[in-house]
Amino acid sequence: MIVAMQAGATEEQVDAVINAMEEVGVNVHRTTGEFQTILAGVGPTAGLDLTKFEMLPGVLNVHRISAPYKLAGRAFRPEGTVVEFRNGAKIGAEKVAVIAGPCAIENREQIFAIAAAVKAAGGGFLRGGAYKPRSSPYSFQGLGIPGLELMREAAEANGLLVVSEVMEIAQIEPMLPLVDCFQVGARNMQNFNLLRELGQVRKPILLKRGIAATVEELLLSSEYILSGGNYDVILCERGIRTYETATRNTMDIAAIPVIKKLSHLPIVADPSHGTGRRDMVPAMAKAAVAAGADGLIIEIHPNADKAVSDAAQTLFLDQFEKLVGELRGLAAAVGRTL
Ligand code: PEP
Ligand code: MN
Repeated sequence: MIVAMQAGATEEQVDAVINAMEEVGVNVHRTTGEFQTILAGVGPTAGLDLTKFEMLPGVLNVHRISAPYKLAGRAFRPEGTVVEFRNGAKIGAEKVAVIAGPCAIENREQIFAIAAAVKAAGGGFLRGGAYKPRSSPYSFQGLGIPGLELMREAAEANGLLVVSEVMEIAQIEPMLPLVDCFQVGARNMQNFNLLRELGQVRKPILLKRGIAATVEELLLSSEYILSGGNYDVILCERGIRTYETATRNTMDIAAIPVIKKLSHLPIVADPSHGTGRRDMVPAMAKAAVAAGADGLIIEIHPNADKAVSDAAQTLFLDQFEKLVGELRGLAAAVGRTL
């Protein structure tokens, strides 16, 4: 159930409503927006008479949430979620976030060159995998924590924030001091134990859409994190597997406005995995911004052809710089900055 409080409701009134909700056994999640407080009650509400809550002082209206996801739905935060990072950077606000970096952290020279390029282009976030979910166990699996330490150093030197993939619960703790945002990869979108654990973390989570997941399944996965009290979730469209073989995945641009309508969570787009082809990354990056994406996550490398993973979809640094310039003009045309 969703209880929307009146704009001028007092803290006492809000507390009284929370108590009344807890009394009937529902878990209350509170969000305080610019104009009003919204209380989402998750739990056994099916047989409840909601008019009882409507009568409480300070309540504007009460309704049931019909969607299976309760906290990810737009009704919880009608104005949209803005995820804020420790340096004040935001995802979900007017500025389209640029998250760029290699598929995998390879060595010091590589990650420092990339960090400098991200900074020069005006990007705010450095991405790079230290733990890589590879289709083959014989492929490069990532440098682990020593790689993350290199990326942290490179990011700090350039005033960037760090985004990196976590593959299992045991990696959360050692990664915590080294990342600003945990990425959950497509293959782990339904690793529910991992998601639950990330609900206890107080750092933003970038949750990628599974290879064969519907939008509803993506939102339900985000619910695992949100229901733990971590409301800083950023969704990511990265292409899904379809019968089409011309691209590595089929980039579902329409998922962006669909998610904007259904959910308050920010959504970023990954045109690198979305296409698997370097020559198509710019077109899909532009399409995503035009469709309302709150950010882009793009694979780049000084020696893209030789990248140890995902070389074919990785942009060279000059291509990235050119793309960001073009995106700036486009962002302005759709009422955003970049
Ligand atoms: C990645 O970002 O390098 C990655 C492995 O992405 P995905 O989980 O979308 O395949
Ligand atoms: Mn990759």
